[in-house]
Amino acid sequence: MGRMTATPAPTPEPAPADRSATDRPKRVLLAAPRGYCAGVDRAVIAVEKALEQYGAPVYVRHEIVHNKYVVQTLERKGAIFVDQATEVPPGNIVMFSAHGVAPTVHEEARQGRLATIDATCPLVTKVHKEAVRYAKEDFDILLIGHEGHEEVIGTSGEAPDHIQLVDGPEDVAKVEVRDPSRVVWLSQTTLSVDETMETVDALKTKFPQLISPPSDDICYATQNRQIAIKELAGQAELVIVVGSKNSSNSIRMVEVAKQAGVPAAYLVDFASEIDESWLEGVTSVGLSSGASVPDVLVQEVLEWLAQRGYLDVELVKTADETLTFSLPKELRRDLRAEAAELVKE
Ligand code: SF4
Repeated sequence: MGRMTATPAPTPEPAPADRSATDRPKRVLLAAPRGYCAGVDRAVIAVEKALEQYGAPVYVRHEIVHNKYVVQTLERKGAIFVDQATEVPPGNIVMFSAHGVAPTVHEEARQGRLATIDATCPLVTKVHKEAVRYAKEDFDILLIGHEGHEEVIGTSGEAPDHIQLVDGPEDVAKVEVRDPSRVVWLSQTTLSVDETMETVDALKTKFPQLISPPSDDICYATQNRQIAIKELAGQAELVIVVGSKNSSNSIRMVEVAKQAGVPAAYLVDFASEIDESWLEGVTSVGLSSGASVPDVLVQEVLEWLAQRGYLDVELVKTADETLTFSLPKELRRDLRAEAAELVKE
């Protein structure tokens, strides 16, 4: 090997930073954990099992989980998605989605003579129970969440007279309570952890005696995916999150990546939505997926990136997830027979 000398090169060279960027192999930093959480897995399997056991159609109120691909796949298998239980003809089976429903929706199904399967995630049910308990104790409940989100509508419906929604720190100024010594906050399960704590801090400044929920309402899956995305964001020039535009936890992941300083972060449902121009000058792409996203969609993005030279895939693992939930107990019953009985009554 020849000795290096200090003689200036006769032709201009790229700046060292540019040279190292172009010389480094293009790589993908793949988040772990990512994708399906225990609640989504349970809800999707519940629809599949219901179709298997009872045959099509099985009606599902709202998207079982917020993912286009999952919904389209289940539709092909015989699921029919409806906006309201009142749209389902009497004597049928209707499933409630992972986001949970208000008690009035159970009542609508009873009135409509429908057999029901409740696929509400147990971690959402936990928040519903907290809301019921604090309402019974006559607390004012400040529910931190996004206006119009299904989960928030369902939780609020448990105690509409006691719950008021707080949609971010800017909402705090307008919050009024009956007795500042009896106020508790709860939250939607799929929020940004940091933003929620900002809202809680603002609420605590206004109501120093504010009580916190007995355990975190933001679920383990949301928190783990945000921690992983922060880790990626520090090492990548671009972050891609696979998820649907109506998926709260997926949207939060993009926001968390941007707040962590990544120059660009995007949400895509499918690999085909990635714009080639996003890759300009990018050596490291961070990749993750929301809690409602099957991994096949991430694999498609990996293939798409591999075709463009991003061949190295490094797993960035920040947690192990082992939680699983048992299927809704209603699946152990003959719901077709029960539904047929209901129309005879
Ligand atoms: S994101 Fe969390 S609360 Fe929502 S379904 Fe998954 S585990 Fe349950």
